[in-house]
Amino acid sequence: MKNKKIYFDYAATTPLDKDVLKKMLPYLKEKYGNPSSIHKFGREASAAIDNARIQVAKFLGCKEAEIIFTGSASESDNLAIRGLIKSLRRAKGAGEKIHIITSQIEHKAVLETCNDLEKEGIKVTYLPVGPDGIINIDDLESEITPETDLITIMYANNEIGAIQPIKKIGQIIKKLNQNKEHRIYFHIDAVQAANWLDLNVNELGVDLLTLSGHKIYGPKGVGVLFARENVKISPIITGGAHEFNLRAGTENVAGIVGMGETITKIKNQKSKVKSIEKLRDKLIKGVLTKVKGSKLNGPIKDEDKLPNIANFSFEGCEGEALVMYLDQAGIAVSTGSACTSQALTPSHVLIAMGLSDLEAHSSLRVSLGRYTTLAEVNYFLKVLPKTVERLRKISGR
Ligand code: PLP
Repeated sequence: MKNKKIYFDYAATTPLDKDVLKKMLPYLKEKYGNPSSIHKFGREASAAIDNARIQVAKFLGCKEAEIIFTGSASESDNLAIRGLIKSLRRAKGAGEKIHIITSQIEHKAVLETCNDLEKEGIKVTYLPVGPDGIINIDDLESEITPETDLITIMYANNEIGAIQPIKKIGQIIKKLNQNKEHRIYFHIDAVQAANWLDLNVNELGVDLLTLSGHKIYGPKGVGVLFARENVKISPIITGGAHEFNLRAGTENVAGIVGMGETITKIKNQKSKVKSIEKLRDKLIKGVLTKVKGSKLNGPIKDEDKLPNIANFSFEGCEGEALVMYLDQAGIAVSTGSACTSQALTPSHVLIAMGLSDLEAHSSLRVSLGRYTTLAEVNYFLKVLPKTVERLRKISGR
């Protein structure tokens, strides 16, 4: 029991793929040149970045020149939103209104960026979601005005796995943009979707798309922003001509190499969707039958959710305490977003779905991945009911 080490937090981060690490290592050791240098060392590093750009562009079905490497998905979200707004402001001139539509359940990298822009006078509409965590297309259409410049919606949610109707939104925007001088831009945060859903940018009809290396078995500290050729964004980090003048700073060569390599492996993983779904369903069924007062949060239908995330609420249990007790039993889970789980405010995602503060505080996210086994799920199902009981006794419920 003591030596158990079960990782059920793949939505927070994924282990680095061994083959990916192998490809990265030379760029941390002997191939250490600065890609901006014109000598052999530099050219070697710069060629590695070019190769990674080809790999990512192939995955997204876009041009290499449309791929910008950043330091994280949070940075990519910021560059997409702030970069576009900055460029629009300059083009439109002061006094012209700017309107963004997003949802209430976005990752904080989008949500807080929008909050921040609101303070600068930009109008932001935060779309509500249903109890399943999915936005209503009619709500979206009714909020679009002639002033709407940007729609930014996440493809799949990191806490509940809910998938948003991105293709449909893409089609609506495309139609609205026809015969119009004014253009609506479409950004999606595809960080959690990348392992499971097709991300061909033309089929989705998106202008800007965000990815993160460490959620797809690549390294931490590297992100991608796809920015369509004819979409003008301004840099938010200045100081060099790197990344087509859109992101200054010497490139994280090894990280970028890792990003390119890991992305080529995603296709193989897609064949594993069914087996992950099976493990997840066994886990969900087990939890709901073995733990009284437990409830599944998020979409019900398979087509509306990612195959690897399950979010529960346990009556009379503090989510944070549950995480700590399970950790003692060797099981790593979380209460929601890794970035906000240290805060004591209840999850904004669960609250937007209509859960009470109490229900949101009693939530637990279990996220599975490439290396999850049936034995791990069974062990979890053995430990969880006892842990919940123990906690309920302590809190006198
Ligand atoms: N967007 C989503 C949906 C996420 O789940 C995360 C990470 O939790 C991020 C953005 C931020 O990613 P990064 O850690 O690369 O900044």
